[in-house]
Amino acid sequence: MKPKLCIVVPCYNEEEALAITSKTLLELLGNLILKNKIDESSILCFVDDGSRDATWEIIKDLSQKNKNIHGIKFSTNFGHQNALLAGLLNTKDKSDCIVTIDADLQDDANVIEEMLDKFNEGNEIVYGVRNNRSSDSIFKRFTAQFFYKLMSAMKVKTVYNHADYRLASKRVLNEFARFNEVNLFLRGIFPSLGFKSANVYYKRSERVAGETKYPLKKMIEFAWNGITSFSIYPLRLIFFLGLIIFFLSFLLIIWAFLPVFQGEAVRGWASTVIPLFFFGGLQMICLGIIGEYAGKIYKEIKARPRFIIEEEI
Ligand code: UDP
Ligand code: MG
Repeated sequence: MKPKLCIVVPCYNEEEALAITSKTLLELLGNLILKNKIDESSILCFVDDGSRDATWEIIKDLSQKNKNIHGIKFSTNFGHQNALLAGLLNTKDKSDCIVTIDADLQDDANVIEEMLDKFNEGNEIVYGVRNNRSSDSIFKRFTAQFFYKLMSAMKVKTVYNHADYRLASKRVLNEFARFNEVNLFLRGIFPSLGFKSANVYYKRSERVAGETKYPLKKMIEFAWNGITSFSIYPLRLIFFLGLIIFFLSFLLIIWAFLPVFQGEAVRGWASTVIPLFFFGGLQMICLGIIGEYAGKIYKEIKARPRFIIEEEI
């Protein structure tokens, strides 16, 4: 049976890109239908993330002209991740698999066909991975690579050079729907779900129109959210740092006492400097311990599913 595909496109002030994007994606759907790879009822779903330009008017117009185009409009700007979330949750029951792709077509839409092939081979998640960033500015490239390295240093499981361009099956999305967290970081959630997955590779190109909606401030917020929603490692670092300082303070004690034996001690120096180190280290250890509990509470509050069953016999 041919799968019913849905392509979800988050849009924030994308009036300049939408005409080209919708045309490209509709042609792509048409082609895939002709090739018998997807069902005729496959859809495109645009999510307007509270745009202040004509984005919603364009989406409305497109959906009136084409019954396969759906639209969702947010009351205000809730951010890229929430736009993706709304698209996924709203269409998962109307399709067999969903591909999410940015409205600027920086991610090569032509590899959706390859994603579908991998899906038909039994993969439940297919990640789009950029293997060439030559079109990105040096700044963007540097910050992006730093971001992936930092994630792995902080023990957050992500797919290197994969953003939010991916295919997920209905099955995976039903499990995904059990994640109720507010601080969404989809690039961390999907790899943590497990299931058979594959990668497809493509060259990242430039925006078809308009400019980036991710300034440096939003990028930093996003990275920080990724780390803090997936890792309590920074809290553990406090504890280890405290331990190191605490043990160093013992060395300091010996060092501070040496002049006493040599008879050239300055009065009051050792008794000032030793407690500084000693209690500094001790306080950090205590903070680290409190941090561990805060981390546990955080995990409990998120109430993520404790397991996901893939098969039963
Ligand atoms: N986007 C969104 N809400 C936001 C910011 C961005 O829905 O608050 C969408 C945007 O319209 C685009 C995608 O997220 O489809 C990625 O944004 P962008 O291309 O500007 O980011 P970049 O590729 O420059 O990192
Ligand atoms: Mg982009």
